[in-house]
Amino acid sequence: MRNKIVAGNWKMNLMPSEGEVLVRDVLKESLALKYNQSVIFCPPATHLMAVKKVMTELEVSETNYMLGAQNASHKLSGAHTGEISPEMLKNIGVRCVIVGHSERRSMYHESPEDLKKKVDTLLSENMICIFCCGEPLAVREAEAHMEYVEKQIEESLFHLKGEGLSNKIILAYEPIWAIGTGKTASAEQAEEMHAFIRSVLAKKWGSDVADDISILYGGSVKGENAAELFSCENVDGGLVGGASLNPNAFLDVIKALKD
Ligand code: PEP
Repeated sequence: MRNKIVAGNWKMNLMPSEGEVLVRDVLKESLALKYNQSVIFCPPATHLMAVKKVMTELEVSETNYMLGAQNASHKLSGAHTGEISPEMLKNIGVRCVIVGHSERRSMYHESPEDLKKKVDTLLSENMICIFCCGEPLAVREAEAHMEYVEKQIEESLFHLKGEGLSNKIILAYEPIWAIGTGKTASAEQAEEMHAFIRSVLAKKWGSDVADDISILYGGSVKGENAAELFSCENVDGGLVGGASLNPNAFLDVIKALKD
């Protein structure tokens, strides 16, 4: 059975001390809820150790709470000034890494081939890859969004074997027109795309594998829209940007995932 997950992507926001307070506030309340879903915190790299310290202090379960990074090198070590290797991240307690976020694809020119290499390096370190896909507005308006997303998945993931894949990959469908814009895909639009993505995965790896892979929705998720989005059969939770920066707003999204 696939996991229900809420992942918070803080992007380049908050100071480390603010991040520590945020995680402590979220954990105190979410631990008391005793839900069975998973929560992933993806702070900036400079905050990872402080966040991990709070998670350790509060003795969170490793199954239900994970530390994630927003980026990692496709290399394991060496002369790569400014980069951080998956192994270094793993060493400080990071379990998963976001790959293919639209901001990295567009602003930092990460190509499908670059993403493929990152996926491979992460999996070689037994880390989990949160793989993002999603179309820009023009593609949606041209009604070419299905082919667009299928190609993104094909280009960077189809070289993988299906065995054990649900423990290695989390997918996140993030329509670019809904990221940070306040516009959310409707529950119908999200479900249509998520069901399509699952059919793409099933065609490649079989339905047993596809049924076990969590597919998160991302794009202006907040307390007000999360429950409706998460009630869709193929939406297994959310990748949350803006609303993950405030403890109450993030908790509202976590609470919407109650099964
Ligand atoms: C994101 O960047 O992954 C995201 C979904 O951001 P927001 O929730 O702010 O739209």
